Amino acid sequence: MLLKDKVAIVTGSASGIGKEIAMEYARQGAKVVIADLALDAAQATANEIIAAGGVAMAVAMNVMDEEQVDKGVADTVAAFGGVDVLISNAGIQIISPLIDLGLDQWKKMLAIHLDGAFLTTRACMRAMIAGGRGGSIIYMGSVHSHLASPLKSPYVTAKHGLLGLAKAVAKEGAKDGIRSNVICPGFVRTPLVDKQIPEQAKTLGISENDVIKNVMLRDTVDGEFTTVQDVAQTAVFLAAFGTNALTGQSVTVSHGWHMQ
Ligand code: NAD
Repeated sequence: MLLKDKVAIVTGSASGIGKEIAMEYARQGAKVVIADLALDAAQATANEIIAAGGVAMAVAMNVMDEEQVDKGVADTVAAFGGVDVLISNAGIQIISPLIDLGLDQWKKMLAIHLDGAFLTTRACMRAMIAGGRGGSIIYMGSVHSHLASPLKSPYVTAKHGLLGLAKAVAKEGAKDGIRSNVICPGFVRTPLVDKQIPEQAKTLGISENDVIKNVMLRDTVDGEFTTVQDVAQTAVFLAAFGTNALTGQSVTVSHGWHMQ
């Protein structure tokens, strides 16, 4: 068990990548906080973990809401005695040409990915410093933290921004034993991706199969999707790493789509 008794908050963990990270963390002995928009959805994931013999609690947390974020972290400290790991994972996708994008859509994307990362980081860093036992902060970036695709301008902008935040946190957190890294997955079959396949097919005027083969997986070494388990194993590795040698980095998990 690589994360025995570590307390981990995972945002956006009622679904997809975040859910698998939460389940894997629990299998590795962590006490996991499922933080998501709707309490019932978060509770359902927590219940799955508890039924499998793990330790979990659910909190309702819109990562854009300062009060909810601070309360969720305070409730975590009250229940589990501190915070050791933050996985800042909550996110959305919007498929649109830049020239058709509304300012409200642009702001929403940056608010979820960047304001959300800032607010959860600030609350967890404060708790980690108060606890005096260091910590690990992991952002869910993307291959789009390093390169761009058409129709995703605010997503690409936000995911690039996380690299800067992670580097700043690595610098400021070091004196308190806080490390900060970014995971950059390629395409993973989650609800977020399943929704954009028909949207991209319509906007690009091609079939859904062509979107998968010739847009999403074209530049991988083997035409394979990355899996939620691939990403979860990377999140375990980063959180369990023992020294400050691995901080301020991004790790790409994408079947060779992007090579750093
Ligand atoms: P998903 O849609 O399956 O899950 C996203 C979760 O985030 C949902 O449970 C949703 O309720 C939650 N969420 C959305 N807005 C929120 C908010 N304001 N506050 C709290 N929770 C909120 O998506 P996923 O594919 O698992 O994506 C998770 C993360 O991984 C995102 O940051 C996404 O950008 C990133 N990512 C996904 C892929 C992919 O191919 N699926 C690739 C690279 C990066």
